[in-house]
Amino acid sequence: MNLFWSNGTCWYICCRRLSNTADIPVWRLDSSASYTTKSFYAQINWGGVEVPNRYLVFVRLVIHNKILTRDNLSKRKVVEDLSCLFCSEPESVNHLLCGCIVAEHTLQSVSEVFDLSAPNCVSDLACLWDCDNKKRISCIVAVATLWSLWTTRNDICFQGASWKDTRIVLGKISSYFING
Ligand SMILES: [Zn+2]
Repeated sequence: MNLFWSNGTCWYICCRRLSNTADIPVWRLDSSASYTTKSFYAQINWGGVEVPNRYLVFVRLVIHNKILTRDNLSKRKVVEDLSCLFCSEPESVNHLLCGCIVAEHTLQSVSEVFDLSAPNCVSDLACLWDCDNKKRISCIVAVATLWSLWTTRNDICFQGASWKDTRIVLGKISSYFING
């Protein structure tokens, strides 16, 4: 087994002989070889991960309804299409980040993985998932989730990215933990 550091995280590499048997996932951070939330928390906290301040600024804007969703943008100028880019309902901060079917599925998946209560609105998310303590896992998860939903929406809006399913958002959340 070899260890190496990348982006502040210690990774384990194992050398094994190739065989014709089907691959199976193995969680190396727990002696049971199965995923446990406790082992994941220990890995993240051990690496000293914390939320960079620039993301906390974004969360403050979200909590105070200041990000430029289409309803907020329409207060400044004429916006012809006020609908959400993921569904046909009107886009607002609360809709995009909690009420939208995409947000609901994402939050449900993330809350199950990290054993957190599923929030009903952005304020719930900020409180239940503790957006004030930038070293707590619940804060890191909350920020990663909000940021990933927002940037996925922006990729569709400004980059012409096509929408497939929530795996796009979940992939961004995973990237957040790897790349920060
Ligand atoms: Zn929507």
